Amino acid sequence: MADDKNPEGKYDVIIIGGGPGGLTAGLYTARASFKTLLVESGMVMSQITVTHLVENYPGVPDIGGYELVEKFKEQAKKFGLATTYASVTGLEKTEIAGMAGWRVKTDAGNFEALSVIVATGANWRKIGVPGEAEFTGRGVSYCATCDGPFYRDREVIVIGGGDTAVQEALFLTNFASKVTIVHRRDRLRATPILRERAAAHPKIAFAWDSVVTRIGGAEAVTHVKIANAKDPKEIRDIPADGVFVFIGLVPNTEFMKGVVELDKEGYIVADRDMKTSEPGIFACGDCIEKLLRQVVTACGDGATAAFSAELYVEELKGEKYGGR
Ligand code: NAP
Repeated sequence: MADDKNPEGKYDVIIIGGGPGGLTAGLYTARASFKTLLVESGMVMSQITVTHLVENYPGVPDIGGYELVEKFKEQAKKFGLATTYASVTGLEKTEIAGMAGWRVKTDAGNFEALSVIVATGANWRKIGVPGEAEFTGRGVSYCATCDGPFYRDREVIVIGGGDTAVQEALFLTNFASKVTIVHRRDRLRATPILRERAAAHPKIAFAWDSVVTRIGGAEAVTHVKIANAKDPKEIRDIPADGVFVFIGLVPNTEFMKGVVELDKEGYIVADRDMKTSEPGIFACGDCIEKLLRQVVTACGDGATAAFSAELYVEELKGEKYGGR
C-alpha cells in the first residue's frame, strides 16, 4: 500500500535474480510484508533450471532443478512477491521520500527501492579454444539436460573435473555410448561420491592431465585435439560428436563493477549478514565470494540477505523495533 514512506511505484526491496537465492529472499521479504519486486532476466537461464537432478537439497530428494525453482517461485508468489522480466544494466543512488534509495536501471525502464538484493548467480566459463565459439550449438554445449538427448549412441567428451562435470557426465551416460572426461589434472576435484560413481561407470573413460586445444569438425564436431598438460608437445585427437564444457563459473556481476566491492574474480564481497560495501545493497547466492555454491547455501544466504534488508529498511523509515 502506498504511503508517504512508501510512495507508489517505489519498493522497499528490489531483488535482482530469480534463482534459489533471489526467490528465497523474495519469499522472506514478501512474507514479512515488505513491498518487493524481483527482477529477472528472461535471457539468462539460472544454472539450477538446467540441472537435471538435485540430490542434496534436504527434504526434497531427487527433484529436477527446474521443478524445484518452480516450487520456490510458487511459494514466494503466494505471499505476494511481484516479479518482472528485465535486464539490469546498472545501479545508482537516489532519494525516495527523503530517504537514501537505489535506482535499478534496466532495459525495460528504471525501478527504485530503499534496498537492493543482488542474486544474479554465475554462468558457465568458456574454454576459449579454436572451434568452441564456431561449434556452439553444433556439438559444443554447456547444458547436458538441454542437449544430452541429441547424443544417443554417440561419443561425447566432458571437459572439467569438478562436481558439475562429473554429475553431468553421469547424466550423459543415459544417452551416449561413451563419455570421456577430459581433465587437466590426474584426479578429480569433484566430491567423493561423484568420483566413485564415475570411476565405476562402464561408459565413462578419463583423459587425465589433458587440456583441449582445439575443437574440430566440418558441419558439426567430429573430434577434439588434446595436449598433455605436463608435456604440451604430446598431442592427440579424440573422436567426439559432442563436447560438453563444465569448467566452472563466472559471476554475473558485470553491472556491479564500481558499485560495490568485488573480489579479483568478480564475485561480490558480502559479510556474514550479506551486507556489501554499500549501505542498502545486499547480495546472496552464487554471485558472492564464498566457499560452497549450492542450492541450499544460496537459500540460506537469501534468507539472511532478506532479513538484513528488512532491518535496514525499518531503520531508514524509523520503524526499527527495539532489540532487532
Ligand atoms: P569448479 O568446482 O570450479 O570446477 C571447475 C573444474 O574445471 C575444475 O576441475 C577445474 O580444474 C576445471 N577448469 C577450470 N578452468 C579450466 C580450464 N580453463 N581448462 C580446463 N579445465 C578447467 O566448478 P563446478 O564443477 O561448475 O562447480 C561450481 C560449484 O557448484 C562448486 O561449488 C560445486 O561444488 C557446486 N556444484 C555442486 C553440485 C552438487 O553438489 N551435486 C553439482 C554441481 C555443482 P582444477 O580442478 O584443476 O581447478
